[in-house]
Amino acid sequence: MTVEIDSNSGFCGGVIRAIGGAEKFLAEKGTLFSLGAIVHNEAELSRLQHKGLITIDSLTAAPASFTVSPKEGSPAKAPVSAAKTLLIRAHGEPPRTYELAREKGFEVIDFTCPVVLKIQKSIREASRRHSPDGQIVIFGKIGHAEVLGLVGQVDGKAIVVEDVPQLEAAIDSGEIDVARHIDVFSQTTKSPTGYEQLCNYLASTMAAPGLLEVHNTICSQVASRHKELMDFARRHDIIVFVAGKESSNGHVLCNLCAGENPRTHLVGSAAEIDPSWFRPEDSVGVCGATSTPKWLLEEVAGHIKNLH
Ligand code: SF4
Repeated sequence: MTVEIDSNSGFCGGVIRAIGGAEKFLAEKGTLFSLGAIVHNEAELSRLQHKGLITIDSLTAAPASFTVSPKEGSPAKAPVSAAKTLLIRAHGEPPRTYELAREKGFEVIDFTCPVVLKIQKSIREASRRHSPDGQIVIFGKIGHAEVLGLVGQVDGKAIVVEDVPQLEAAIDSGEIDVARHIDVFSQTTKSPTGYEQLCNYLASTMAAPGLLEVHNTICSQVASRHKELMDFARRHDIIVFVAGKESSNGHVLCNLCAGENPRTHLVGSAAEIDPSWFRPEDSVGVCGATSTPKWLLEEVAGHIKNLH
């Protein structure tokens, strides 16, 4: 059995920047709060947690002060009050989050990915340009942090659709009016093919030409991975796709692999691997999402090599 790790898998630039920033801060200050998981990968989160990263799910429910256990070698014996610095992760946040963080006494370090910041700005500009009649449509996962951050740029006045049937339903119900101007954007990690299908459908239903403006907002790092990953999945007898259960990008890319190679298995870690999946002559491909750390891909590949 041979095992190859996909050289294009692993963290994207936005995640590398956020995690690098968090690690630098933690090395100097010891404690940092993150609003939501910095990366949708349980193993990486646990590694950062040991360095002092504390994930909080909501600012509304955040207490006025936090205590942390004293570090090794510190004269303090009891838990001490933690300095409140809040990291904004690569997904970005709506403007209200920044206000709320200040109200709650947090200092903010912002690691919103520059690509996401640019889309947030485009959405604000598009909304201003076509006000009051224009509509913003976002192709994305309802409730996903990045999507909430995008919708928040226009005070929630954007319509989110996950696929063509949802778009069709929104048009039929009158929620989307095809006789008015529409700016359409995509969440950065959506499938380029899915976005193209959605935009084609929308274009075919518009009441007049020129009313639809399509913004190419799928992250280029994600888009280029799609084709490479499909080739990788075809080249191997079996694919082990490593991603956290919450990773939206992980599900998209794993489905893409499964479309090319029916022997595709999604795992969160080496512990989830079933030896009965493999045959002695198999060529095994190990790959992952933009939220999968390289060290985890190597750990999974090492585990598979040791099975026989
Ligand atoms: S996928 Fe692209 S847009 Fe999203 S965080 Fe990574 S680099 Fe940024």
